[in-house]
Amino acid sequence: GYYGQFGGAYIPELLYANVEDLRKQYLQMIETPDFQKEFSSLLKDYVGRPTPLYYAARLSERFKTNIYLKREDLNHTGAHKVNNTIGQILLAKRLGKKRIIAETGAGQHGVATATVCALMGLECIVYMGAVDIKRQAPNVLRMQMLGAKVIPAGSGSQTLKDATNEAIRDWINNPEDTFYIIGSVVGPHPYPDMVARFQSVISEEIKKQLKEKTGSENPDRVIACVGGGSNAAGAFYHYLDKEEVKLYAVEAAGKGIDSGYSAATSVLGSEGIIHGSKTLLMQTEDGQVVEPHSISAGLDYPGIGPLHAFLIKTGRAKVVTIEDQEALQASLLLSRLEGIIPALESAHAIAALEKIEFSSQETVVVNLSGRGDKDLDTYMNYLKEYGNDHHTS
Ligand SMILES: *Cc1c(COP(=O)(O)O)cnc(C)c1O
Repeated sequence: GYYGQFGGAYIPELLYANVEDLRKQYLQMIETPDFQKEFSSLLKDYVGRPTPLYYAARLSERFKTNIYLKREDLNHTGAHKVNNTIGQILLAKRLGKKRIIAETGAGQHGVATATVCALMGLECIVYMGAVDIKRQAPNVLRMQMLGAKVIPAGSGSQTLKDATNEAIRDWINNPEDTFYIIGSVVGPHPYPDMVARFQSVISEEIKKQLKEKTGSENPDRVIACVGGGSNAAGAFYHYLDKEEVKLYAVEAAGKGIDSGYSAATSVLGSEGIIHGSKTLLMQTEDGQVVEPHSISAGLDYPGIGPLHAFLIKTGRAKVVTIEDQEALQASLLLSRLEGIIPALESAHAIAALEKIEFSSQETVVVNLSGRGDKDLDTYMNYLKEYGNDHHTS
C-alpha cells in the first residue's frame, strides 16, 4: 500500500482485523464478473455514465488551445463522488455489512453515501462537524431526506477532521457489522488504491472519447483540482505511465499561500501521518494538524492522498495553486462563456488555465468534478460585491 515513501496503514490495533480483512478481499471481489456487472450497470443507469467529454469552443478560443471538459458535474448527485460510493457499497454488501458510516465536511460525500445506502436499503450514519452542519444546511437536509442519521462532531474545531475522528471511534466500537465508506483517495491502505480504482472510470472514458474526437487517446495535459485527490486520481489513472501526458494537480491557495489561510498542502505540507496514512500534511513543528482554509469546502482538507504526494514529489504531476478570488472569477468565466456553472472546487481547475502556457495545437482535458448549485450562495455574495461583468471576455 505504498507509493514511494507515502501510504501504508497506520491504524489503531483495534481496527487491524477489519482493515486487514478488507485488504485481503477487495481486489478479488472487485474483479469478479458479478461485481463488475453490477458496478457498471449502476454507473450507466443510475449515475448516468458515461459522462460527456465536451469540446468547450468558447473557452478554447479564449485560451487559444483545445479544451475539453469531462462533465462529472452531470452525474447523479452532481459530482464524481458517487462513482466511489457505489463501488464501496457493493463491497460492503458482499462483505455482509449491515451498517454504513461516513465522515463528511461540506456534506457532498455524506450525500453520495446516503444516496447509495438508500439505494441498497442499508443503515447510514454520517458524522459531520457541528460548525459544518450549520454552514452546509442544504446538504444536511438532503442526507436526512435520504434516511441517513447525521451526527454532529462537537470536539476540536468541529469540522472535517473532528468528524473523521468520530467516524473512526464508531468503527472501533462496531468492527463486526459496520463498513466505513471513505470519500477520497485518503485513509489507510487499501482505501487510497480502492477509491482510485473506482474513480478510474473517468480516465477510462476520456481515453475512448478522445480517440473518437481527435484520433488519439492521449491529451497533452490533464488538469484536476485536489482536495484529497479522488477526482484527480480518476482523471489521471490511465495516463499515469504515459509520460507524454502532463498532469496538473490544482490546489486551493485560499487567501494566499503565505496568508495563513490556505489549503495548499503539497506546497505547505510536510511528511506525517493523517487519517491512517503517511503523506504530506499541513502541521505545526510539533505535529499538530493546521486548520486549512479554502472558499471551497471540498478542497478545505489539511492532507493530500499518498498517491498525489508521490506524484508531486517525483515531479510526475505539477502543482498549480489557485486563490479564492481566482476561483470565483473562473466560475463566472465558465458560466458566461459556456453556460456551465461549476462547483467551486472545479472552478479551481478552470482557473489553472490562466497559469499554463498552451500552444494552439494542444488537447487539454479539464476534469469538471461537480456542479455549482451547492455554491450559489457564495457566488451571489461575490457578484454583489464585485458586480456582474467581472472578468468575462
Ligand atoms: C469533494 C469534491 C472535490 C474534492 O475531493 P477530491 O477527492 O479531491 O476529488 C472536488 N470537487 C467536488 C465537486 C467535490 O464535491
